[in-house]
Amino acid sequence: MSEQSTGVWVYLQHSKGDLTKDSLELISAGRGVADKLQQKLVGVLIGSGVQELAKKAVEYGADSVLLVDSPALQVYFNLAYADAIYSLVSERKPYVFLFTANEIGKDIAARVAFRVPTGLATDNVQLAVEDYNNPALGQFKDLLIQVRPDFGTRLARIYTPKHRPQMATVRPGNFVPLEPDPKRKGNVEKIEFEPRNYPARVTEVRELPPAVPDLAGADVVISLGMGVLKDASGRARDPAEAYRYAEELKETVERKYHLKAEIGASRALVYAEVKELEGLIGRSNQVGQTGTTVKPKVYFAIGISGALQHRVGMSGSAKIVAINTDPEAPIFKIAHYPIVGDLYEELPKLITAIGGGGDA
Ligand SMILES: Cc1cc2nc3c(=O)[nH]c(=O)nc-3n(C[C@H](O)[C@H](O)[C@H](O)COP(=O)(O)OP(=O)(O)OC[C@H]3O[C@@H](n4cnc5c(N)ncnc54)[C@H](O)[C@@H]3O)c2cc1C
Repeated sequence: MSEQSTGVWVYLQHSKGDLTKDSLELISAGRGVADKLQQKLVGVLIGSGVQELAKKAVEYGADSVLLVDSPALQVYFNLAYADAIYSLVSERKPYVFLFTANEIGKDIAARVAFRVPTGLATDNVQLAVEDYNNPALGQFKDLLIQVRPDFGTRLARIYTPKHRPQMATVRPGNFVPLEPDPKRKGNVEKIEFEPRNYPARVTEVRELPPAVPDLAGADVVISLGMGVLKDASGRARDPAEAYRYAEELKETVERKYHLKAEIGASRALVYAEVKELEGLIGRSNQVGQTGTTVKPKVYFAIGISGALQHRVGMSGSAKIVAINTDPEAPIFKIAHYPIVGDLYEELPKLITAIGGGGDA
């Protein structure tokens, strides 16, 4: 089966008449894999009246696009979309098939993987292509290496040696879209779609209100961790005081630099459900593997150790400022501006330094 399989496919999501940013990142991720394999990168585009987006996918790096455009596919409906994708996969046998690790990507990828059947590695943060030798299973050339955080502190490397396609979802925020090239040419192939008589149908689509806080859309994210509970001497502190500093930093950044700032948190702080932070820090503030992935211009990690599950959600930030009492804290391995010290002393100084009051 694997000898016949060829092509790296990416499932392209769109919203409000445009490809999503996550899809542009996915094209970039797929391009890297396709180049290493010396195979074609194929975008899979499904919807109604979306043919113009196929051109954009090519400009951003796809070699060609399989376009399933039908009024029956006007809104996302997993049973119909899974049918459309599954019939393409079973007929054309791609070698690799990538999806974005969001609600739609995970929903559709799981359904297709089950039907093929093949494996599905979810929430990858890196992808590679390597040979794989396993004494029990054999030798495999040019496998997709799917890299994602495991449940502890390490990165897991997942292989799908025998089944095709090798299917993976990729977390947003880990790849950078390629520069578009309007001169790039690629074939757009239209595929017919015959809907079945499904036992369910979509009766209404409601748009959720924008996320609050909008961590993913912020220019600056100021995140607090368990370090807020004590000062450097180990004396218990009021975490609400650290939160007020974070708010002052946010306000200063917004006022002086006209950048949109939001307050984030480590999962440990979110789950600690600290009474003093009730209504201020909740699940929607969490940055990391099981929270939001952010890529701001500046990320402040304040009293955060920098565990792997936190880092995978923020390591793509352009600049990282970390305040931590422990000079060995893992966050310092990726911080551009490491500040070793007590956040209750360093934060007010930092606020003053960037032009705020500093005496909150
Ligand atoms: C499956 C799974 C998924 C996970 N998902 C996430 C996730 O999405 N996001 C996430 O964040 N974590 C996640 N975690 C948890 C993660 O492993 C860590 O436990 C968590 O990130 C630690 O949070 P922290 O850095 O706030 O706390 P700690 O690890 O307790 O670190 C606190 C830090 O504060 C420093 N400190 C203490 N006092 C001060 C002070 N006064 N001033 C300055 N620094 C001080 C300490 O030196 C320490 O480095 C996940 C774990 C698992 C197993």
